Amino acid sequence: MIAEAGRVYLVGAGPGDPELITVAGAELLATADVVLYDALASRELLRGTRAGAALVNVGKRAGRPSMSQEEINELIIHQAMAGKSVVRLKGGDPFVFGRGGEEALACFENEVPFTIVPGVTSAIAGPAYAGIPVTHRGVSRSFLVITGAEASAGDEGAIDWGAAAAADTIVLLMGNRQLETSLARLVAAGRPAGTPAAMIAMGTLGGQRVLKADISTLATKAVEAAMPGPALVVIGGVVNLSSELRWFRPGPLAGRTVVVTRATAQSGALSGLLSAAGATVIEAPLISVHFGASDEIRAAFELEWDWVLFTSSNAVEAMRRAFAEAGKDVRLFRMARIASIGEATSRALAGMSLVADFEPSRALGSALAEELPNPRRARVLYLASTLANDSLAAELRKRGASVTQLSAYRTATEPLDQLAIEEIFEADAVTFTSASTARSMAEALGSNELPERLKLVSIGPLTSAAVMEFFGRVDGAASEPSLEQLVKALEQALPGNGGESWA
Ligand code: SAH
Repeated sequence: MIAEAGRVYLVGAGPGDPELITVAGAELLATADVVLYDALASRELLRGTRAGAALVNVGKRAGRPSMSQEEINELIIHQAMAGKSVVRLKGGDPFVFGRGGEEALACFENEVPFTIVPGVTSAIAGPAYAGIPVTHRGVSRSFLVITGAEASAGDEGAIDWGAAAAADTIVLLMGNRQLETSLARLVAAGRPAGTPAAMIAMGTLGGQRVLKADISTLATKAVEAAMPGPALVVIGGVVNLSSELRWFRPGPLAGRTVVVTRATAQSGALSGLLSAAGATVIEAPLISVHFGASDEIRAAFELEWDWVLFTSSNAVEAMRRAFAEAGKDVRLFRMARIASIGEATSRALAGMSLVADFEPSRALGSALAEELPNPRRARVLYLASTLANDSLAAELRKRGASVTQLSAYRTATEPLDQLAIEEIFEADAVTFTSASTARSMAEALGSNELPERLKLVSIGPLTSAAVMEFFGRVDGAASEPSLEQLVKALEQALPGNGGESWA
């Protein structure tokens, strides 16, 4: 389904796992002009939006309050009336406690055309990922999805708990704060205190946690277990089936919070791997990348080279931009061979349909300098960071090459606000993907000392050296400088599975 101008799409994002969106939903995300999302929508899904789409977070963020429903409705209508195709991405199904009905009514009232794309609701998928079918022959003939947010004292009349207690399976959404009251009301309405119940937090995600108890003890146990949000509660005999039907295993980093310090534009791949392993990711970009003058880079490419060296994905990006801005493509390369260091760099090259002709045995500049084939008289272009020293060029010159080192990009330190510092202090680990992220972290922290229990994990030897210099310790290092190995190193630094809790 292709997003049409002037139309609003209320799209169910699914319960959490980004693969559980519908085909229609994914296609609309890929084609929309504007995407409005909130806390329940996976960051991973937003990577499927097209370049240039406006992404608007209408949920709570960095301590700022979320937009009111009226403001969201207005924004949706306004964007559609301005001729944009608008996707309003909503967790689970848009019409299950998602206020999707209200947003659709606002469209109707303003004569804005709209489409509803249902989604997989957490009310059914959450239990399913805990091995709990909401109906089961001989156990449950009905299920009720109910909000637990209305059980507060002054609100007695809002829910008919007597009727609720009569459903075979009860799924309580938004129930965490009032859980004790809600469960007590069910018991008061005749549900036996020993009825099995399960709380499912971060359902369908790598960090999924499941806590089983009965309705008289679940609320207390959930507090003791410090269950994270979002969470739902499922009540009824079907919960017992999870002993046999439990099939989904949370990732090795489930229940862990990991800080990603690389620049926003680069953090995606690492954050994606971490979430897939079950971690909660905090993105605290400590460096930003600024690209050099395109015409200068382009002019360099128009000369004849034997080798072009890329030692980071930023250099590849600098080249991509330089080509794109002039409407040129990779044929500017002509006969030059490409040397690349590191997996991320090769991946960035692959994104432009370029394959490196040479990669050194280790992902280090010194290895490239030693191993580059036939350097004598070779004309070599090296797209470097402004911070790069000239040792790579100097080594190659010693081997007879004629090297031009071009400053293709610059990395700058980004400050951290107080909130980000607090988030980092509460995390379990910080990842460092370059020496500059370590330096920037030290600068950003100022006199604040990193807590002892926070693990500092680095992607490679140079980064480790910098982490050691600034923080006096390194708690884990990737065996090879790749994002995959960095995640492995984290798993070793944070052993045990923080997420497993089947009480
Ligand atoms: N429209 C959504 C529900 C929105 S109400 C849907 O169909 O799923 C928000 C509530 O949904 C949360 O308070 C929580 O109870 C539940 N929820 C959403 N995502 C969840 C998840 N991944 N795991 C557990 N509960 C979830």
